[in-house]
Amino acid sequence: MPEPQDPHNDVQDLDFDPEALRARYRAERDRRIRPDGGAQYRHLAGEAGVDDQDPYADPEFTREPLHDRVEALVVGGGFGGLLAGARLRQAGAQEIRVIEQGGDFGGTWYWNRYPGIHCDIESYIYLPLLEELGYVPQWKYAPGEEIRQHAQAIARHFGLYDHACFQTQVTGLRWDEEQSEWVVRTDRGDEMRARYVVVSSGTLSQAKLPGIPGIETFRGHTFHTSRWDYTYTGGDASGGLTGLADKRVALIGTGATAIQVVPHLGADAAQVYVFQRTPSSVDVRGNRPTDPQWAKSLKPGWQRRRMENFLKVVTGVRQDEDLVNDAWTSSARLQEKLIPTNAYADVPAEERELAYEIADFQKMNELRSRVETVVEDPETAEKLKPWYRYMCKRPTFSDHYLQTFNRPSVTLVDTADTHGVERITENAVVVGDVEYEVDCIIFATGFDVGRSGVLSGKLPVYGRDGAGLLQTWMTEGLKTLHGLTTRGFPNLFLLGSMQNAASVNFVHILDEQASHVAEVVAEARKRQARYVEPTAEAQDAWVTTIRQKAADLYKFQAECTPGYYNNEGSPRERSESYGDGPVAFHELLRRWRSQGGMREVLVESEA
Ligand code: NDP
Repeated sequence: MPEPQDPHNDVQDLDFDPEALRARYRAERDRRIRPDGGAQYRHLAGEAGVDDQDPYADPEFTREPLHDRVEALVVGGGFGGLLAGARLRQAGAQEIRVIEQGGDFGGTWYWNRYPGIHCDIESYIYLPLLEELGYVPQWKYAPGEEIRQHAQAIARHFGLYDHACFQTQVTGLRWDEEQSEWVVRTDRGDEMRARYVVVSSGTLSQAKLPGIPGIETFRGHTFHTSRWDYTYTGGDASGGLTGLADKRVALIGTGATAIQVVPHLGADAAQVYVFQRTPSSVDVRGNRPTDPQWAKSLKPGWQRRRMENFLKVVTGVRQDEDLVNDAWTSSARLQEKLIPTNAYADVPAEERELAYEIADFQKMNELRSRVETVVEDPETAEKLKPWYRYMCKRPTFSDHYLQTFNRPSVTLVDTADTHGVERITENAVVVGDVEYEVDCIIFATGFDVGRSGVLSGKLPVYGRDGAGLLQTWMTEGLKTLHGLTTRGFPNLFLLGSMQNAASVNFVHILDEQASHVAEVVAEARKRQARYVEPTAEAQDAWVTTIRQKAADLYKFQAECTPGYYNNEGSPRERSESYGDGPVAFHELLRRWRSQGGMREVLVESEA
């Protein structure tokens, strides 16, 4: 048997038939493809009778509009915005204002407080700035509440509450050429000015609902998981949903959120129907409390070393040790299908592809066997088996999800043949000819992943000569330097995953970006630059680099079951990410900074 993780090994003596698996995967994919693709979804905001209100903020909150000036303004109070604020503070920026739609810091961890919420990336590498704050998380995988409180602690530590504006949405950014600053308008009538603007408005900020016919006719209670209604369910993020003791609950969706929610619904509701379209792959979790001796033994620089080790391991950079040592790191090779690297470029392409595929079959066989071992009813177990390649869907981890289907009060309803739930009536969810009468429908149907306010048009940005950023990109194609700055939009920095490199530990990626932005701003301050803006040559060269390095993921993604990873079954022909992967990208940024890159973005003041 080949070592599953190493494409250098020969492939032989398999105890399964690869061709049969390929055929099964194709059939399962075809069963789920919908002609309407991404158009099947609706936005949560105010639609379909499902509440989009912030359950945690004061609905009566008011304040006077602001007409002041700050040095740096950050759009978004999640980890990207917090890291931008923290790194800018360390770089010496004076007034820093974070504008956040929610009632406090935290971003996705502010909105998502559903029962069972945890981060599935190890806490010691996911929670940023642990050493700066002198904190070690209490569990290997942290609960959402601890993460949210850590976000607030970061804001306190770096003085980011001082100028923060909560319950405020930026409605537009306009560059004022004369003053060399941005005019920032909000839905609270503010018209503030800022020399630098960093946009980190989130990749999971717009919740979505399925466009199920009749959704608005439902008379029972309903909400999205990112607006969990504890006044109805009782309990809190640790469970104890006593309000559901006499309720029949429908949960729609079986992604990473549902995997964490289902065990709590199963424990507390009278009856639970889980409506599944595509099963998630569910690997072992193995959460455990932090060993206090280990925490005490940590040496300065430990977090950075651990984050970098994880990033290297999961993106194919050979390491002698695996510090995190979990299901992410043990399946590292398979993740290159989502986040490409040029590891193993020395192995001929065909051989490499076959070795990857075999390793993938082995991993998925292992996960399918796990379902059989855990789930007692063979029919239910069969429905819970994922039939696709590992990175077609985001892998999930739980030691309680599959087990919940052994409860007599929990029923799995497979909706693959009908492309999802068919209909919702006044009191029921309908699939095939069965009406499942319920008191409550909970939508675990996810977010417009990766669509920031800038890309969705919700946050219009007008740069030099009034040019619209989105319009410019739509007519000329995406053009940036490192994905962070763009010509015509001075002193504007965009955090996220466009024309750069991402990773499953996205907070690490955001920290590298925020640190880079802060160093650029520090240099601009030091040299009293007029503004920061990439030269046309630097930007064009970066776009060329992105095109040259782009990994061809089209074939892999086209064969996957539909989902947000492959644009609902219609993958984009061209990847916009840096094909050498995040480790190489971070090195490139460091080299750029130390070897004169600043001259590509700093526009000197006129004498
Ligand atoms: P997802 O988008 O991952 O899942 C949505 C689910 O809804 C899918 O199972 C989807 O099925 C299902 N669905 C959509 N429409 C229908 C329909 N008409 N009928 C039936 N089912 C339907 O959302 P999540 O909230 O689970 O996750 C959102 C993001 O948050 C992801 O990026 C996830 O990785 C991340 N996350 C991260 C966590 C972490 O610990 N780091 C924890 C939780 C979430 P189908 O697959 O067939 O489309």
